[in-house]
Amino acid sequence: MAYRIPFNKPFVVGTELSYIGQCLEEAKLCGDGRFTKECQELMQREFSATQVLLTTSGTSALEMAAMLCELEPGDEVVMPSYTFVSTANAFVLRGAKPVFVDIRTDTKNIDEALIEAAITPRTRAIVPVHYAGVACEMDAINAIAARHDLRVVEDAAQGVDATYRGAYLGTLGDFGAYSFHETKNFVCGEGGALVTTRAEAIERAEIIREKGTNRSQFFRGQVDKYTWVDVGSSFLSSDILAAFLLAQLQNKQRITSLRKRVYETYARQLQRLEQRGLMSLPVVPDHCGTNYHMFYIVLESLEIRTRLIEHLRKAGILAVFHYVPLHTAPMGLGMGYRAGMLPLTESISDRLLRLPLYAGLSSEEQDSVISEIFAFFGVG
Ligand SMILES: *Cc1c(COP(=O)(O)O)cnc(C)c1O
Repeated sequence: MAYRIPFNKPFVVGTELSYIGQCLEEAKLCGDGRFTKECQELMQREFSATQVLLTTSGTSALEMAAMLCELEPGDEVVMPSYTFVSTANAFVLRGAKPVFVDIRTDTKNIDEALIEAAITPRTRAIVPVHYAGVACEMDAINAIAARHDLRVVEDAAQGVDATYRGAYLGTLGDFGAYSFHETKNFVCGEGGALVTTRAEAIERAEIIREKGTNRSQFFRGQVDKYTWVDVGSSFLSSDILAAFLLAQLQNKQRITSLRKRVYETYARQLQRLEQRGLMSLPVVPDHCGTNYHMFYIVLESLEIRTRLIEHLRKAGILAVFHYVPLHTAPMGLGMGYRAGMLPLTESISDRLLRLPLYAGLSSEEQDSVISEIFAFFGVG
């Protein structure tokens, strides 16, 4: 079924094709070309990040971060269960075991107060996921990591350009992962970036990304031949995609202000339904600067959510939910986790609904989404 109002529509700023055209003219299509460097430098500059490396996806950035954590089979990594599969897969691929922790009621981020109880002698890392572009409690998380000598890998796939106490997400831990998938704020189809804040890990990050070779050092003239020096894979993305991404990153503010308008309209209009106890709305703590990645509502029950989705579908509107908690998914159950272990995660997973939010959503379209929600609840 074609929806009149889809859940997401990638926003095109207008300069993407001409940048891709330049890329073709210069006949430099592989990774680490001019556009890749410009994207990386733009993010390093604007986010005050030590090093940013473009990758093929947010997933591959997480996989690189997991490799850089130097895990051994059986090591444990603390993370939320309420997240996308890549958060866990990156570490499982290294033989590590995800240890799932419940979330906070307000932000749906990992509950930092529950992290310490999940730490064992095998714990090596904590992976805060900045859900919906709202920061996890990084001061508390970094303090726990320092006490137990753990790495912190921020899954900032949804958190590009968002802040915590004025610092950009992805730059607060040891490593950060960004995503430029078409469902995120700034896009290039499929893409991501690894942020490295540990100076001593920068060289190894470049090597892992370049198939385990020192090719980056070779191009800078630091070594006279390039060769196999470590494990690695092909994590760098084509300069064609970087050209597309540069156009988007140069228009970050415009994209964010369009998303902000949509977000604030939902927040303002739906407040009346929240006051009547029919739903709860997202919370952004004062010290967190959101990037307006997502607008969700939390309904009273799974049954109401199912009926609301159906009501919206009939009106040509697509609203979606996520995540199946990782601990109750087949992979999580296979690791010995069971339903009932993380009550808040399970409850939110049943009741949260994401509304259409993209930079190109018109006021008329959004009004239609809002009035259908009011109609569903029989509130005029
Ligand atoms: C989107 C997303 C990812 C994966 O990013 P891709 O670029 O699609 O690989 C990882 N974690 C979270 C929380 C995400 O939202």
